[in-house]
Amino acid sequence: MQPDKLTIHHLYADMMNMYGDRGNVISLRKRCEWRGMDVDVVDVNIGESIRPTGCDIFLFGGGQDREQALLADDLSGTKGADLRAIADDGGVVLGVCGGYQLMGHYYETAGGEKLPGLGIMDLHTEPAADGEERLIGNVLMRVPDPEGGPEQEVVGFENHGGRTILDGAEPLGRVVAGHGNNGQDGTEGARRNNAYGTYMHGSLLPKNPWLTDRLIQEALRHAGYDGEIEPLDDGLEAAAFSSVAGRVRSRG
Ligand code: GLN
Repeated sequence: MQPDKLTIHHLYADMMNMYGDRGNVISLRKRCEWRGMDVDVVDVNIGESIRPTGCDIFLFGGGQDREQALLADDLSGTKGADLRAIADDGGVVLGVCGGYQLMGHYYETAGGEKLPGLGIMDLHTEPAADGEERLIGNVLMRVPDPEGGPEQEVVGFENHGGRTILDGAEPLGRVVAGHGNNGQDGTEGARRNNAYGTYMHGSLLPKNPWLTDRLIQEALRHAGYDGEIEPLDDGLEAAAFSSVAGRVRSRG
């Protein structure tokens, strides 16, 4: 039977919530509710531990270097170990920008501070070199379907100084337009098991229902449900996606 409840664990919700990352929470909630599932949203702040309920999604949004430095200590304790174990076991984690940077082995801030990451993915992030600009703007990427279906296009908005280098991690997608991980190698984001990291804000999930549904489906599978979630009428979401994708493409 499809689980009747899903819990969204919003990590450091009060600190890591840039450019509308909270929209990701709303999108997940609505798409579950439209399928008859209840959703609990639990904010997990500094000093609070993670309490999985069996059907869970962990969200780690974006934030500036200052916030990242403030929470790095908290993340290096039990909470980090718990999140690593969850990702190793195929639990669903989505990290965006500052959150994504902290899913790798380390993030070196613009001020030269080396913040340890969760080490969920084999990647690290370096600050922009002297004279290098922040990487800002709309992004369009192509993402292989993890189930072998057709490649999907995903749109979002990026704004980061850090350059992420994949040290063996699988990229989430290939950049069609925009900068992605580092503006150099054409990769965007990373994925390991059901842990996803991306630079896309803006918010990501409302415009990309395919990805939202992947996260929900994987959370249900992880909870032991092997059925497929029912499709929804995505007319409005498709229009939002097409409007951004059209603009991004026309700028090349
Ligand atoms: N502080 C990071 C950077 O600028 C992340 C910023 C963000 O989350 N938008 O690289």
